[in-house]
Amino acid sequence: MVQVNFIDVKDDDAIFEGSGWDALVVVATDISQTGFDEVSLLAEHGAKVDKRVGQSPTLLFAPGLAGGRLIISPVKNSDDDVEDVRIFADAARAGIRLAKDAGATRPLMLVSKSADPRYQSATEVAALACGQELWQALELREAKGDLGDFEAIGLLNSSEASESVNAIEAGRILARDLCGTEPERMSAPAFADYCIDAYRDSGLKVSVVEDRDVLERDYPLLSAVGRSSFAVSRHQPRVVKVEYVGEGEIERSFFFAGKGVVYDTGGADIKVAGGMAGMSRDKGGAAAVAGLMKTLSLLKPKGIRVVAELGLVRNSIGSEAFVTDEIITSHAGVRVRIGNTDAEGRLVLADLLSHLRIQAEKAVKPELYSVATLTGHVVRCYGGYTATVENAVAKQDGIAMSIASEAQAWGEPVEQSQLRREDFGKIIDPSGAADILSSNNAPSSVTARGHQYPAAFLLRASGLSANGCMSKMPLAYTHIDIAGSATEGDPLYGKPTAAPLVGLYKHITRA
Ligand SMILES: [Zn+2]
Repeated sequence: MVQVNFIDVKDDDAIFEGSGWDALVVVATDISQTGFDEVSLLAEHGAKVDKRVGQSPTLLFAPGLAGGRLIISPVKNSDDDVEDVRIFADAARAGIRLAKDAGATRPLMLVSKSADPRYQSATEVAALACGQELWQALELREAKGDLGDFEAIGLLNSSEASESVNAIEAGRILARDLCGTEPERMSAPAFADYCIDAYRDSGLKVSVVEDRDVLERDYPLLSAVGRSSFAVSRHQPRVVKVEYVGEGEIERSFFFAGKGVVYDTGGADIKVAGGMAGMSRDKGGAAAVAGLMKTLSLLKPKGIRVVAELGLVRNSIGSEAFVTDEIITSHAGVRVRIGNTDAEGRLVLADLLSHLRIQAEKAVKPELYSVATLTGHVVRCYGGYTATVENAVAKQDGIAMSIASEAQAWGEPVEQSQLRREDFGKIIDPSGAADILSSNNAPSSVTARGHQYPAAFLLRASGLSANGCMSKMPLAYTHIDIAGSATEGDPLYGKPTAAPLVGLYKHITRA
């Protein structure tokens, strides 16, 4: 099992030898204020012989404490206005890495409390950061067996039950496995099968659309993206539908479209000059939504219903490939001229959203979302941050604001972008022959408003533009671009993060 089991520890004596833990990892803003005299005293002694103690992660020989190992991982700059809870994540990752290198198998983690409201979830954020640090790629696990380093990690005096941390981490592991895996192991059919396995006995309703005729009829834009992949059976598209229904009267409903482009060659507008490497990670949106559904199935929040459609498709190139200039009618009946075949994610999402829109119109307090690694532009704008672009209905309801505040508290900060009237100007078909144009013909990263205007396309192509504030059936819709945040580190092969799973979970379960 790749998942580390987090265990609540309420007994302060667990820090001592004989408690069954074999290292004490202290994540602290101030070594003299750990809340444990024995620990602070040892750390202060240690700092006298090694100036790194309290400045960088260090291991002290500590007879009498758990495993004789005291690891001090300092939280830096906690008083600095610009910092957020991720400083605890950074310190926890460094501390757990040191514990692993030192040979511990059952470390106990103590995260020092802070009165600062920015750090209210510091212990849980630190635990999730350990999960991020310790995750290993699915291909590696399948080739070499699970290299489980830790039997368990104890969380001393955390405020939230470890059950919730474990469930969130289980969702994040599924999201990372789906996002991070190479394009043959995690082809569209394999992605669908992996979800079915992961949801077995979960209580989630799951179905998969795989029939070509049904896909072409119900998901015509998605099927155009996948047109040249139909010839290769193991590359054929899939749509995975997942539904969670909480106990009790349903008070709110959520609808998620996830972009799962399992490989993006760019299509006929092929990615050149080395631009294709890393494009197996173009499924991070579908992966994050799949992980969110897993977390929901484990924690079973009451009174909400959550419906997801994951569009899994390989943007291949071949004699059947769709090409720029084609006009294709979307599921919502909107005639879309293809502006560039490498802007395929929005085509996949538009059909999914059209199906979700029909369901949302009959639902209690619905909110719709698309989650996607959509544009290079968002990376140019915000670096490694998630961006939201919401319609006027969502804005009235403060949805992006709520996601941003939850995500901030949980170490997944979000930038809120605005949809503007100019964004709709960019999707006009100059010939007048089609209803709209899918994209301009330059990389988004050199296009002004390159990550905002796709939300205008999504609203129009999915039919959601008919559900504005003044309509009979207003629907709140928020587009979430995670092209910058879905992976960390190396731009091509960095570790998947599962963002924005935690912020979304906290938003949809917000009281
Ligand atoms: Zn593309």
